[in-house]
Amino acid sequence: MQEDPYQKRCKYKFCRIEFRAKRTNQEFCCREHYVKHNNLIAKNERDETKIFDKILHRNREILIMLLDKDQVTKDELITLGYKFNYFTNLLKKKNGNNIISCYEYLLELIDNNKIKISKYG
Ligand SMILES: [Zn+2]
Repeated sequence: MQEDPYQKRCKYKFCRIEFRAKRTNQEFCCREHYVKHNNLIAKNERDETKIFDKILHRNREILIMLLDKDQVTKDELITLGYKFNYFTNLLKKKNGNNIISCYEYLLELIDNNKIKISKYG
């Protein structure tokens, strides 16, 4: 016997009731469960990225704090809680210096321990 393409089970994980669909591509028993399902996906995504976002925002705050200084040392940044493994972009200047960015802020590695902080744009 062939499966009825209009006989469905609601895709929302807290519902899962069987229902009669109006269209074959309908996946939810009602509009509310469609919305709830999508909100759940968005929430999971936020939870998964939260820890990274938090570290990147902290890095950015530290850079804002030190922006007025001509140069800082790696140790100064680390003491303030800066995490070098978290950045938003990696660039190389024409002179060969490496630049890591944290949102609109740039860290130019002058040598092994000296860093110049600037704001993009
Ligand atoms: Zn449902």
